[in-house]
Amino acid sequence: MGNEIEVLTQIPVDLDRDSLFRRCHIKAESEYASQFEVILEEARHVARSKAVYREAFIDSKGEETVTIDGVTLVSRALRSILEKVERVFPYVATCGIELDQIKLPGDDLLKQFWLDEIKATVLDSCRANLNNYLDNRYALGKTASMSPGSGDVNVWPIEQQRELFSLFGDVNKLIGVKLTDSYLMVPNKTVSGLRFPTEVNFRSCMLCHRENCPGRSAPFRKEMWDSIQRDSGVQSTKTV
Ligand code: SF4
Repeated sequence: MGNEIEVLTQIPVDLDRDSLFRRCHIKAESEYASQFEVILEEARHVARSKAVYREAFIDSKGEETVTIDGVTLVSRALRSILEKVERVFPYVATCGIELDQIKLPGDDLLKQFWLDEIKATVLDSCRANLNNYLDNRYALGKTASMSPGSGDVNVWPIEQQRELFSLFGDVNKLIGVKLTDSYLMVPNKTVSGLRFPTEVNFRSCMLCHRENCPGRSAPFRKEMWDSIQRDSGVQSTKTV
């Protein structure tokens, strides 16, 4: 394998109580506040977010493939977006398995929801720290990122998580993240993908037909979608 794999573990976590109250729709004077704070305090104590990344260079590009260190990623959209890119940064960032070890009553869906929001906040912080670290270390300038399973289902199929993970060897051993048989990542608050310097304005949401998605960060771009689908014979398949 060409370039060194780096694991980041000393990632600062900002679990601000008032922001989390807002995120979880909890009023400070409500009966829920003290219950939430018990979970928050434990989360602050155990949270250990982690990230792994590597710098990698593209070996070759096919009609709808990109090969990196002998690993072939299959996605016409990815191939198209990487047209002028030679250097990429595969990554996996996670809230960490430690937060899954907080014991909550199995039937208390409200507390499960609170913990999930805490985990999401830890992941947001982890991802931001990883991006800052890469920006500073490699002076990346403008970048974009793409992930298996984001956008419409055939944009970069989620099954390609396996190939992305293979760029790191044993991701479970490195940062405790496992892939299920259906290619979901555990812990659930984990993200993976390729980040790369580019002058192109790109977000996966531009290739996603999903309506009313609360996470949408950019409008659907029909001309981008059409240009990637052109000549591929691929039919539009909407995210459900
Ligand atoms: S619109 Fe929503 S589902 Fe589609 S890529 Fe963006 S965040 Fe994901």
